[in-house]
Amino acid sequence: MKIAVVSESPADEAAIKILVDAIIGHETELVSASRLRPGGWPQVLNLLPSIAKALHYHTDAEGVAVVVDSDSSPVHLLDQPANENCDSECRLCLLRNCLGNSLLRVSPVPNRASLRTAVGLAVPSIEAWYRCGLDLHVNEARWTGKLSGERINYSKRSLKVDVYGSDQPSLQAETTAAVEAARRLAHNMDQLSQLFPSGFGCFLTDIRNWL
Ligand SMILES: [Zn+2]
Repeated sequence: MKIAVVSESPADEAAIKILVDAIIGHETELVSASRLRPGGWPQVLNLLPSIAKALHYHTDAEGVAVVVDSDSSPVHLLDQPANENCDSECRLCLLRNCLGNSLLRVSPVPNRASLRTAVGLAVPSIEAWYRCGLDLHVNEARWTGKLSGERINYSKRSLKVDVYGSDQPSLQAETTAAVEAARRLAHNMDQLSQLFPSGFGCFLTDIRNWL
């Protein structure tokens, strides 16, 4: 299966591809959307319509997986009726709607099935996923508490330090740590979806629906 991955850095994209392969159960082939690589939120949201269009018309990608960090935006609410944003600031809902609307506007191409989509929200950043299995205190429930004013013992910065040994790692150091973490998580999907039921759980469900 050919897929494209859209995230905030090439290191994260390498890790997400490993997670997608683990969910699907075989190795996918990466289709590059690198000419349109965003650098972070909100560029991901802004560039997503062009990326979806380019993938539809100019590649043979069958699926696109998009993952962004939530930063200080809300954690997606799971019991949300389809087609309704759970919160106007929810990045998962914003990305889903953006992708859905973009793909509604493309014209059919002969012999081309519509692009399958998967959206994930790493709460508060993908480094929290990378810490899964190593630090049980890092999870969506705890971060949701922080958003409503509770004190917790980690931050986006401390997660980076824990994962990379620095809050400003080189791209090489970031990629090495991200790939190593994703290879470990590939054998620990259950725990990742238990600790991150919304942002990773939705991603997992989307990818499983591709099969
Ligand atoms: Zn939402």
